[in-house]
Amino acid sequence: MTSPIVSPVTPALPSTFLSFGLHPDLLKGVQKMGFDKPTPIQELAIPHVLAGRDLLAAAMTGSGKTAAFLLPILTKLAEKPRGVTRVLVLSPTRELAAQIDEHLQQLAVFTKLSGAAVFGGVGMGPQEHAFRSGVDVIVATPGRLLDHFSRPYAKLQHLEVLVLDEADRMLDMGFLPDVRRVIRHLPANDRQTLLFSATLPAPIQTLAKEMMKNPVSIGVERQSMPATGITQAVYPVPQDLKPALLLALLGRGDIKSVIAFTRTKHRANRLFEFLEKNGVSAARIHGNRSQGQRTDALDGFRDGRYRILVATDIAARGIDVNELSHVVNVDVPHVPEDYVHRVGRTARAEATGEAYTFVSREEEADLRAIERAIGKSLPRVVVPGFDYTSKPSQFEVPIAVRIADIRARKATERARAKEKAERKFSQPAARPAQTFRSAPQPARVHTSQGPITPRTHEQRDAEAQRLHEVARRAAEAHVAQTVRGVPGGHTSPRPSHFRPGGRGPGPARGPRQGNEAQAARRDQTPSGGNGPDRRS
Ligand code: AMP
Repeated sequence: MTSPIVSPVTPALPSTFLSFGLHPDLLKGVQKMGFDKPTPIQELAIPHVLAGRDLLAAAMTGSGKTAAFLLPILTKLAEKPRGVTRVLVLSPTRELAAQIDEHLQQLAVFTKLSGAAVFGGVGMGPQEHAFRSGVDVIVATPGRLLDHFSRPYAKLQHLEVLVLDEADRMLDMGFLPDVRRVIRHLPANDRQTLLFSATLPAPIQTLAKEMMKNPVSIGVERQSMPATGITQAVYPVPQDLKPALLLALLGRGDIKSVIAFTRTKHRANRLFEFLEKNGVSAARIHGNRSQGQRTDALDGFRDGRYRILVATDIAARGIDVNELSHVVNVDVPHVPEDYVHRVGRTARAEATGEAYTFVSREEEADLRAIERAIGKSLPRVVVPGFDYTSKPSQFEVPIAVRIADIRARKATERARAKEKAERKFSQPAARPAQTFRSAPQPARVHTSQGPITPRTHEQRDAEAQRLHEVARRAAEAHVAQTVRGVPGGHTSPRPSHFRPGGRGPGPARGPRQGNEAQAARRDQTPSGGNGPDRRS
C-alpha cells in the first residue's frame, strides 16, 4: 500500500466535467445542480475511481467529496444496470447518510438508478424493502446495517464498491469495530474500496491497509483547515451573556440563516428556549431528538421556516444547507477538528460564509489550541452598543436540579402508568363474570379517559413512592448485573445479543469518545434515543 499523502495539491487535470467520460445522464444531473467545474477533490478522484482503483482520500467536508465518489460510481452502474445492490456507502451519522442519499437522487435524476438510506430511528420496513428490491446504492450507518444483516433478506453478495465516508468521525464515535463487522459481511473478491476522511490518524491508516488493495492516495487540503471562503472571528463574552450576544447579532440583520453550536444537548435546549421566548424562529437538532423532529428541524431550516438551527456536533455532522451565511460557535469546541467541521457548515464548495466563535474566559485555552491547529490567530471583535456588564439571567440549570427534575418526572410517569394499568384491569370485560358477581366493584367515576377508581391523594402518593422505590431497586440490580458482566465496569449501550455475534466491551476509550459513542449508538437504536440529556 502506498503511504498516505496529505498535502496541498493544485491539480493540472481536466477542468470541466465533460472531459472525465462520465455518463451523459449524470452530466445532465451535474448541470441541473449548477456545478460549472469540478472541485479539486473531484478532479483528482474521479479518474481513479473510474479506472477501478481503490482510493484513500484526505478530503474536507464541503470540498465536494460526495460527488467525487458518486459521479464515477454511478457512471459505472449506469453503463451496465443489473437491478441488484452493487454499492454500499457507510456514514457515521444519520444526517450524513440522508445527505448523501439526497445528493445521489439529485445527481441521478436523469438515470434509472436507485438509492436508499438505511439508518436508525425510523422503521425497518421500508429499508427491508430496499434490500429486497435490490436498489443500486445503499447508504447506511453501521449500527442499523448490522441489525439488517441479522435478517435473511440482507445479503449484499453482488457488492462491487464500498465507500467509507468521514472515516475519522467513525473513529471518534467508536464505530471502527462495527465497520469491521460490516466488512466481514461483504464479499471480498474484486471489491473496489474508497475511503474519505478529513484527517488520517493511525487507526484509519491501519483500517485502510486491512480493507484496501494498493490504493491511490490523494489529498486536497491541509489537515484541519477550514475551507478558504470562510471569514472567522472571535467574540469574547462572559458565559452567561452568550445568548444575549447572539440575539444582539441576530438583531443587526446581516445574518440570514445561521447554525448555532452548543457543547451539550442541555445548552442547545436552553438556547432554543431563549431564542423562541425572544421571538426568533428557531429549531434544534441533537441526540435526544427523534428522527421526525430532526427531519422537521432540517427541512424547516432549509426552506426558511426557521432562521436559526441550534445544534450539537454529532447531530450537525454532514448537514449541508445551501447558502448558509453564518455559523456561530456559541461554545468553543473542545477539539480543533470539531471547530473545522463546524465552520465547514458555511462556505460549502465555492460559496463564502462567516464563522463567529463566542469565547468566555474559561474557554480561552481551547480557543488557543484551535488557533494553533489552524495556524493563525483569529481577530477579536467587540460588538458596539452591547452591554457586556449587564446582569444576565441564569442560562444553564444546575446539573443537580436537572437530575432531580428527571427523577421526579420519571416517578410521576411510572405512577401514572401503574394507575392506567390498574384502570385497565378493573374494566368489567377484563374480569371473569363470576368474580364480578361475587365481589362487586367499588363505585367508579367516568372521565374523558374512561372510568377510574376513586383514591385519596395520600394513597396515590404512597403508591408513587412505592413504585419509585421498586424501580430504583430494579435499576440498581440491573446496573450491578451489567457491571459484573462487562470487564472494567463499562455498561453496554445495547444488550450483547442485539447484534450478530454480540458486542464485546469494545476498545478502551477516553471519556469523551465513550460518551460520544454511547450517544451516537443511542441515535441508531430503533427508538431514536430519547434518554435523559447527558451530552451533545
Ligand atoms: P460535500 O463536500 O460533498 O458535502 O459537498 C459540499 C457542497 O458542495 C454540496 O452542497 C454540493 O452540492 C456542492 N458541490 C459539490 N460539487 C460541486 C461543484 N463542482 N461545484 C459547486 N458546488 C459543488
